[in-house]
Amino acid sequence: MAINKSLFIEKFEEKFWNTIERFKLVKRNERIGVALSGGKDSSTVLYLLSQRFKDRMIAISIDEGTGEYRRATISNAQRLTRMLGVEHRVYSFKETYGYTLPGIIELFKKNNDNTKPCTICGILRRALLNDAAIELGLDVLAVGHSLEDEAQSILMSIFKGNPEFLQRLGPRSDKVKGFVPRIKPLYLHSEKEVLTYALLQDLVDKSLTASCPFSSLAYRNTARKALNLLERNDKEVKKKIVESFLLLKSHIERQPREINRCKRCGSPTSGEYCSRCKILMKIEKFVNK
Ligand code: SF4
Ligand code: ZN
Repeated sequence: MAINKSLFIEKFEEKFWNTIERFKLVKRNERIGVALSGGKDSSTVLYLLSQRFKDRMIAISIDEGTGEYRRATISNAQRLTRMLGVEHRVYSFKETYGYTLPGIIELFKKNNDNTKPCTICGILRRALLNDAAIELGLDVLAVGHSLEDEAQSILMSIFKGNPEFLQRLGPRSDKVKGFVPRIKPLYLHSEKEVLTYALLQDLVDKSLTASCPFSSLAYRNTARKALNLLERNDKEVKKKIVESFLLLKSHIERQPREINRCKRCGSPTSGEYCSRCKILMKIEKFVNK
């Protein structure tokens, strides 16, 4: 079925701004960081937010050192930020942590530590984005999470028996000292809608075929497959999971949240050390063995 291009764009953008309004994602005068991988989701977030908030936005990209894939997405991020006139900063794992992601994975493997690549990557990337946002004086960090991403995260926290993680989900995360709240303007958009929009608006490089070399090992794939299977019988299942979660969330939030400070870096954490320090401590241990 042919899509009516301008009608689709209009509806997509209407949903985007309604999501921002419904969940009060951007407050008056807040300075916004956009976590810009250069893929379809974050590029769409950057493009749309820049239409209203360009003067108080900075795009931040993280280079994990994953080769061709990351080089291509960062080059798309540079193209877009130049085109939109948005300030852009790139931070790398190599410069910050002394190793690229493949280097860290190699080191872990040699030491028979089978922590999943995406776990290491996600923890180190999120922490680096947070550091950058603090350093740049930003109030919120916009990420490209779609409806699918959120439904997957909800399921993953249940599959893993980690319901505390649910407290961190939602369209706008809590304000905690030392942690810049994340906002998700694509919270109610499906991946398919975002891809269609990004292609129609020329926000992604259509010739980009490379993908992260570690993506097939992601635990998230299990949740993705389960959801896609459920979707065969119910097209609305992802939306229902997210809307049910939103209803439950107000009750979850009533539980007081214990926040400690990491003994090593002072970041907010629920344990003795934050997840990033646990990884960095392992790296130090493996290197000095
Ligand atoms: Fe990192 Fe995994 Fe994403 Fe690759 S697929 S960029 S390793 S989180
Ligand atoms: Zn720490």
